[in-house]
Amino acid sequence: MSVDPFDKGGLHEAEAVLKAHGVDAYFREVAERTGDSYAIIDGRKVLMAGSNDYLGLSTHPKVIEAAVAATRRLGTTVSGSRPLSGSLVLHGELEERMAAFLGQPAAVVTTTGFQANLALSALVGRGDLVFADARNHASLVEAGRLGFGAVRRYRHGDLSHLRQLLERAVPGTGRLIMTDAVFSMEGDAADLRGLRELADEHDAKLIIDSAHDLGVLGDRGAGLAEHCGVEDRVDLITATFSKAFASIGGVLAGPAANVRYLRYNARPMIYSAALPPASTAAALAALEIVEAEPERRHRVLDLAEGLHNGLRERGFDTRPSTTPIVPVTFPSMAEAGAHWAALFDAGIFTNLSGPPAAAGAMLRLTLTANHDESDLDRILDACDRLDAPRENDIPPVTLTR
Ligand code: PMP
Repeated sequence: MSVDPFDKGGLHEAEAVLKAHGVDAYFREVAERTGDSYAIIDGRKVLMAGSNDYLGLSTHPKVIEAAVAATRRLGTTVSGSRPLSGSLVLHGELEERMAAFLGQPAAVVTTTGFQANLALSALVGRGDLVFADARNHASLVEAGRLGFGAVRRYRHGDLSHLRQLLERAVPGTGRLIMTDAVFSMEGDAADLRGLRELADEHDAKLIIDSAHDLGVLGDRGAGLAEHCGVEDRVDLITATFSKAFASIGGVLAGPAANVRYLRYNARPMIYSAALPPASTAAALAALEIVEAEPERRHRVLDLAEGLHNGLRERGFDTRPSTTPIVPVTFPSMAEAGAHWAALFDAGIFTNLSGPPAAAGAMLRLTLTANHDESDLDRILDACDRLDAPRENDIPPVTLTR
């Protein structure tokens, strides 16, 4: 009897466990945004503590106006890919400004951050080796799978494991180290200086994904590389406009020759319609605000530190994060799900996550620069009322700034 390729057993395993416990955490539809930090879901107003709109720019009048004006001038879509009919003067402007902002010679804009990472697959030739952190985002994982080379995964953040793998590589093979800069679920930061040193010792390229640190970390908001003082020493940076930059789209920034190569050879990018005018203009407007208003990133970091430390005082360990991504882990998805539901009932929307996206069952809380102290208190009060296991004497954390 042949196997039915469509028969994949119904619900995703984790979702099945949750549904059995009456937890309905995924694909919840937002009907409206009210104020800057609230959403209407199922007719109820809930405090949004699960977006990646870190600087609160997605409702900023200048960003909205830029998107509307670009749509009026250029239409709703470019209806084509970049090499053919889909390139706009606005794309060129965004590329130039992003290259300068990221301290890189050149940049190319893509339609999503996922696509920017997939485009990296064009750099992975036959015989090349990709060294990938075990907790990399799915899009970096797919870039490795799509490339023609082989992937060597090193244990999360374990540079001695990475060193061993690099030492075992056959001399003369092309080597690419790929890592999230800030890890999207647990919120911890990669050791970029250590990675750079290892890359130099083993003649490898270092490629980082700054999806969650762009606009948030570093003096200018250029991300973790800027914060670590290695801005000019990473070989390629990818990032997304879908988080702090209040839009959608991605960017790859690095040496001009590589960026040019990617423009002509990265199939996920070349064969897909380009970033729409509205999204391009929104990202440009967001960049201007990121550059002009550093107080926004200071604010989200202050609020996040308050959330981390408020939770830690209440016995919830938010290790290993040192960023505005605030994880609270639980022994099982069923328990994490029950606490997600309790917070939702209390009017707080968080992200419920688990393997493979995260290392274990967890709630992921995030704030934006538009939240205020009363929002923070509301979240902490609701967490305090959770009937969840607590720990004692968790020391406070100081965020990466
Ligand atoms: N990289 C990381 C680390 C991410 O967290 C995400 C989005 N969750 C992406 C890439 C993909 O970005 P986008 O949503 O723009 O496709």
